[in-house]
Amino acid sequence: MKKIIVLLLCVAFILVCFAGCGNAEPAGDNTEKKVYKMGTNAAFPPYEYKEGEKFVGIDVEIATAIAEKLGGTLEVVDMNFDSIITSVTQNEVDFGMAGMTVRPDREEYVDFSSSYATGVQCVIVKADSSIASIEDLAGKKIGTQLGTTGFMYASDDYGEENVIGYDKGADAVIALKGGDVDAVIIDNEPAKVYVEENAGLTILETKYAIEDYAIAVNKGNTELLDKINKALEELTADGTIDAIIAKYIKA
Ligand code: GLN
Repeated sequence: MKKIIVLLLCVAFILVCFAGCGNAEPAGDNTEKKVYKMGTNAAFPPYEYKEGEKFVGIDVEIATAIAEKLGGTLEVVDMNFDSIITSVTQNEVDFGMAGMTVRPDREEYVDFSSSYATGVQCVIVKADSSIASIEDLAGKKIGTQLGTTGFMYASDDYGEENVIGYDKGADAVIALKGGDVDAVIIDNEPAKVYVEENAGLTILETKYAIEDYAIAVNKGNTELLDKINKALEELTADGTIDAIIAKYIKA
C-alpha cells in the first residue's frame, strides 16, 4: 500500500512538472516583441499607400526594416497628414514617417532623424493649361494637401485665399481635373504617380522647392532617435534603402 502511495505521488509530481514546463516557453520566444507604431498618411505613393488592405511603399518598407533592426515589428497607423505630428507628440505613435519634410517650425514639436530621401515640390497643371511657369500661378487657384509644405509655400507666395487644402493629394488632383483649382503643388514622386494615372495632366519643369524627408520622433526622445539613426545608417551602408527606393522608383 505504501508503495502504491509513493508511486502515485511520483506520478502526480511528474504531471505537475510537465504542466509547469508546458507553460514556460523557451527563452527568447517568450519576450513579447515591441510593436513600433508608425503614424502616416497612406495616400502618398510611392512612399505610403494601400494595396488592398495592405500598407506598402518606400516609407513602410524602410520602417519595417528599422523595426526589425530594433528587435520589434511595425504597425502602420493611417491618419490625415496634418494629424501626424500631434500624434507623435502625444505618444499615440512611436514615430511619424510620411515623406515628411524637415522644417524648423516642425522641429519645435518633434525631433527629426537623419534624412533618408529628397523631395521636390512641383506643380501639376492640365496639359492644355495656360500656366507654363511658377510666375503664371499668381491669381490662380492652387490645390494642395492640408498641412504640407506645398500648402505652406503656396499660401506664403500666392495668398491663403488662393489656396485650397485637401485631406489627400489625390483629392487635390481630382479638383484639378474637375476645374475647381488651376494647379496642384505637391511632392514630385506622388506627382509622377498621379500624372501617370490621370490622362491630360502634366508636371511643370520648374522645381518649386527641394526638401529633405526624415522620420519624426517626440521631442527629446533621444533614445529612440539614436536607435533609428543607427538603423538608418546600417540600412544605407548595406544597400537596403537603395534597393527599397529602386523597387518603387524606376530610374
Ligand atoms: N513633404 C511634404 C511635407 O512634409 C508632403 C508630405 C505628405 O503629403 N505626405 O509637408
